[in-house]
Amino acid sequence: MALYRTDAVVLGHRNLGEADKVLTLFSPDKGKIHVVARGVRRPRSPILAGTQLFCYSNFLILENKSLDSVSQCEIKESFFRIRQSLEAVAYGLYFAELLRASTPLEDKNKQLFDFFLKTMYLLQESENPEVLSRIYEIKLLALNGFTPELFRCVNCGKKNFNIIYFSPSMGGILCRDCIEKDKKAVNITTDTLNVMRKMLTKTYEELEDIEIKEYTKQQLQEILELFIEYHIDKKLKTTQFIKDVQSFHS
Ligand SMILES: [Zn+2]
Repeated sequence: MALYRTDAVVLGHRNLGEADKVLTLFSPDKGKIHVVARGVRRPRSPILAGTQLFCYSNFLILENKSLDSVSQCEIKESFFRIRQSLEAVAYGLYFAELLRASTPLEDKNKQLFDFFLKTMYLLQESENPEVLSRIYEIKLLALNGFTPELFRCVNCGKKNFNIIYFSPSMGGILCRDCIEKDKKAVNITTDTLNVMRKMLTKTYEELEDIEIKEYTKQQLQEILELFIEYHIDKKLKTTQFIKDVQSFHS
């Protein structure tokens, strides 16, 4: 049986048997994979620290006929500061869940890995995880092949119109003439559209000081949630958790 070494972030885990866990890892070389961490729930397990949720570690993995298993692991970044705040944990769980749900197994995507890792470093420092979350959502969808059409009507191709609708199912903006193409399309403001365009086309660094009105934030959150639900085709468990944490903070 062969061994291989890879860096990876722990995106999720669930208990298996009495002392094991199945981990979902996201690796720049392998994409999303499942591996077993044997004995990891026993105290003093040598792989305990590096296999915790959100940990970015270097793994030595043993290939098996069924699930591969972790032989050794060494922490590169524990993201312990994310774990110190309930709000940051809620967003971290959400970022990981959204990535798990939108990415197929064993689909290597180095660009997506770098983007996710960078997002986690930003979350660790972030004072405004809500805005970070909107940027993450729109960029993650784009990296997974669901770039929304934000520059012309997704039906007729018209540019520049004042009354704007967003259609989650058609994947972009609709003009008033085309509104009957999707009865579920949602009316959005020019401000919301402009913020979405910036989030899609600019880098995290360029968006560092972006200012967004309260109303626009709310509209963005609503339409991105609809867009994500449409593409992922399921309700994410952590979305409600974030809302609960936010209401606790406000
Ligand atoms: Zn149109």
